[in-house]
Amino acid sequence: MFCPFCRHSDSRVIDSRTSDDGLSIRRRRQCPECGGRFSTTETASLSVIKRSGVIEPFSREKVVSGVRKACQGRPVTDADLAILAQKVEETIRATGASQIEANEIGLAILPSLRDLDEVAYLRFASVYQGFESLEDFEMAIADLRLQHARSLSDSADSAS
Ligand SMILES: [Zn+2]
Repeated sequence: MFCPFCRHSDSRVIDSRTSDDGLSIRRRRQCPECGGRFSTTETASLSVIKRSGVIEPFSREKVVSGVRKACQGRPVTDADLAILAQKVEETIRATGASQIEANEIGLAILPSLRDLDEVAYLRFASVYQGFESLEDFEMAIADLRLQHARSLSDSADSAS
């Protein structure tokens, strides 16, 4: 990129450091022409295509606010929600995609939320997957029971 002071077309990196969350790199640069110093931040781009077609950057805050409603009155802390949003971002980034549909975020949220709180999970799933009847809830609950049975037999296996 151009030097912001003199528009020289080249700059030299004098320092690079990764941010604490590991998601961005900050570089300190110096212009060889005028000696001016400036910083750049580099992040892997991840954008979300909303149902309306609007594209916006992925935001963990939006994941948290989307899930928070489903967690009202449940023993879920802000820290739990922050970890959930981080897991969701990692899951999506692991696919290698730089653009995702908004509904894929919902899909990535469901398994993490199920591990966190099953009531919140049912609430979220009912809105996100558009549950229309008691049968939809019954099927989701039957799924949860199946997961429980599996995890019980898993721990029985590892104990024997
Ligand atoms: Zn310069």
